[in-house]
Amino acid sequence: MADYDYDLFVIGAGSGGTRAARVSAAHGARVAVAEEFRVGGTCVIRGCVPKKLLIYGAHFAEDLADARRFGWQVPECDFSWPTLRDNVLSEVARLETIYSATLANNDVEIIKARATLLGPNTLKVGERTVTSKLILIATGATPDIPDFPGAELGITSNEAFELPDVPKRIVIGGAGYIANEFAGIFHQFGAHVTLVNRTDQILRGYDEQIRDRLLQISTAKGIDFKFHANFQKAEKQEDGSLLVHISGSDPLHCDMLMFATGRRPNTAGLGLETAGIVLNDRGAIPVDGDSKTVCDSVFAVGDVTDRIQLTPVAIREGQAFADTQFGGKPHRVDYACVPSAVFSNPPLAGVGLTESQAKGKFGAVKVYTSDFRPMKNVLANRNERALYKLIVHAETEKVLGIHMIGPEAPEILQAAAIAVKAGLTKQAFDDTIALHPSMAEELVLMR
Ligand code: NDP
Repeated sequence: MADYDYDLFVIGAGSGGTRAARVSAAHGARVAVAEEFRVGGTCVIRGCVPKKLLIYGAHFAEDLADARRFGWQVPECDFSWPTLRDNVLSEVARLETIYSATLANNDVEIIKARATLLGPNTLKVGERTVTSKLILIATGATPDIPDFPGAELGITSNEAFELPDVPKRIVIGGAGYIANEFAGIFHQFGAHVTLVNRTDQILRGYDEQIRDRLLQISTAKGIDFKFHANFQKAEKQEDGSLLVHISGSDPLHCDMLMFATGRRPNTAGLGLETAGIVLNDRGAIPVDGDSKTVCDSVFAVGDVTDRIQLTPVAIREGQAFADTQFGGKPHRVDYACVPSAVFSNPPLAGVGLTESQAKGKFGAVKVYTSDFRPMKNVLANRNERALYKLIVHAETEKVLGIHMIGPEAPEILQAAAIAVKAGLTKQAFDDTIALHPSMAEELVLMR
């Protein structure tokens, strides 16, 4: 080991990279991490964390409207985007400091520079050349933007957190996680939102009935959807607004165009070929169950491997890598039953198999649903219904999946996911006494 400058060199200080670096160092490895942008990565700097804070901010729009039904005399309230934006950005800066301090406290050397591979154990870091016994690539992913004339006039979620003001009309390309989350945010800030998607499916991979419910509620709130539509051209108008031409529809006039059309692994210019690494057909770094590439000294975790593009998965991959390589505790990530959520308005969440996946795998399955108007929505006179689904194996009665949309769905699903992961049966749900009155009680009342 002494022949190398480091035992581990990590490229990218995002969720996966920082976990791997910190834990490897705690196991006694000499570790450096190179980050060319900001410590924390997508999740902390321009993803999950600031997004969730914006969602808290956005939800006051409906909460303030509902408050009147609960007896509060709410005067006309003004929303100040610069106040929320700056508070969120300073919280992000605070978290970045904590992330850096945690790495430093664990004796991880942070190098604020771009690192590229020169070979299986050699890297160029800024102007220096360094060697490392192992190299971990944790460079994440970057927004994928459709190619059409004028696409450069659009932004991505990267820029959405720093806008000078909230646009009056926004066109969002895509209908996945980011598109639906920002549709909810901008809509509650008063913008007119149009989602443009190439197919007629929103949130592919989620349960069909749950997705349909989000589409129905979003449409009722006034969010527009253009399906089977491809971007053709975007033009800037004299007044600074944009005219966005799409197939199958009149041009859309808007003040901001945002792309949420998927994210591609960050691999450009990394020098992967010097270690013999060839990308797969999705542009990701292929790895085995130990996150090892074809090169024995080079590993990769997180979005750059495009296994499941979720922060907690990248963190688990970083932890398993560190424990296996430096902690004498080899283990692998179990990708079964990973819960996920979309923080749309209302949010939805799911774990395990969807109804169609379960039918495809097992043939007949039992499906239990609860379609209800949450108590708070009833008094608020808000005509939005929640929907919970339990997908159950026809013979073993094992719960194969839980899918839900409604207030606090992600909070409720995280706890319910333990039951699915543990392989509990529908009977175990039935045996559990309801916690009344709650929305979550619907999970144990489906007969
Ligand atoms: P998604 O994969 O969720 O959605 C991409 C959307 O863009 C789909 O509607 C897709 O349509 C459409 N699309 C893809 N390529 C094109 C194209 N060339 N032209 C037009 N439309 C296109 O990606 P996001 O960008 O929303 O998010 C990226 C990833 O980040 C997610 O997959 C998720 O893993 C992660 N994420 C997770 C969040 C969470 O956990 N809450 C929040 C935000 C992001 P179609 O499906 O019809 O092909």
